[in-house]
Amino acid sequence: MYNAKAYSAASATSPLASTTIARRDPAEHDVQIEILFCGICHSDLHSVRNEWSEFMPTNYPIVPGHEIVGRVTKTGSAVTKFTPGDLAAVGCLVDSDRNCPRCKAGLENFCPNLILTFNSPDTHLGGVTYGGYSDTIVVDEHFVLRVPPNLDLSGAAPLLCAGITTYSPMRHWGVTKGKKVGVIGLGGLGHMAVKFAHALGAHVVAFTTSPSKTGDALRLGAHEVVLSRNVDEIKKHTGSFDFILDAVSADHDINTYINLLAFDGTLTLVGAPAKPLGVAALGLIVGRRSVSGSIIGGIPETQEMLDFCGEHNITADVEVIPIQKVNEAYERLLKSDVKYRFSIDMASLKSE
Ligand code: NAP
Ligand code: ZN
Repeated sequence: MYNAKAYSAASATSPLASTTIARRDPAEHDVQIEILFCGICHSDLHSVRNEWSEFMPTNYPIVPGHEIVGRVTKTGSAVTKFTPGDLAAVGCLVDSDRNCPRCKAGLENFCPNLILTFNSPDTHLGGVTYGGYSDTIVVDEHFVLRVPPNLDLSGAAPLLCAGITTYSPMRHWGVTKGKKVGVIGLGGLGHMAVKFAHALGAHVVAFTTSPSKTGDALRLGAHEVVLSRNVDEIKKHTGSFDFILDAVSADHDINTYINLLAFDGTLTLVGAPAKPLGVAALGLIVGRRSVSGSIIGGIPETQEMLDFCGEHNITADVEVIPIQKVNEAYERLLKSDVKYRFSIDMASLKSE
């Protein structure tokens, strides 16, 4: 066991502050990583503030962060995928039972015994797992990903959650050339969804509440942008979408968007607002439309997504911040004021 530097929150109302946490020494199959960048996901904020208390209560202190890239510093004796000095990445998962049908299918994200990067039981040290707002992390090599060398590391970090969470449902629901795809909410997830839908060849329409993001949406790859507070503009798209990805973090009316689906169209929720969303039955019945959900992605698909990003030179658009600005960043997230992901430069933790 050794001490690592980290930022943690002591309660749902406490700011994140500098602390020291215990990390395990790398065992046989473990990789120790010096964290270089960690993205800030809205799920970090939901968890720190215990907004998912009914579904997934937060254990304090919490060290969030599941968009991790860094360099391997040590490997256990049985590790085959990595050697010290390699670039490496860790997303939302650090373990699973490896034995259930989901794990065997490479869908570790749906394993009933999955261990999340933070706020899950720590089977090695007791207590709970601690995430990437830290200088190092130790993870079983099965859950460590390879980073294509051509990608900028600050922009690659968000691929580990925002990237895979939007890539996976698009692959599952067959987003491809000739499909019309909507993306609701241009935050960390939404802006990645626009990039992926464009790269996969779809006709992409971005829905945003922020007039200041319309120009960017086109630059990111949208073919059309709709200001979602303008009901008339939205209605022009009634009955036309094959697939809509909803990446909104707050309460909103999804019926407006369900009505935009074509026959057999699907709206997939990846955004996870604390409050349940109301669905009008008639909107679904007419046109045999579906509403579905999706959570991150399995390890093989996460590697596929990273390789796809390497080939297409796709990274997140990031605002790099020192860890000391993390509380300010959370306030800005709540105002939809980030273009389009905060990425923490972990070198800033050295001065704590
Ligand atoms: P984010 O960067 O804060 O983006 C959320 C976006 O939602 C905002 O930028 C804004 O986009 C839009 N929005 C915010 N408030 C709104 C409102 N009241 N009405 C309509 N639109 C609003 O968050 P994120 O990190 O992308 O995460 C988005 C959601 O996905 C969060 O709930 C997060 O917990 C969840 N998540 C789920 C998974 C999963 O596996 N399913 C993984 C990661 C995150 P505009 O300015 O364009 O309107
Ligand atoms: Zn996330």
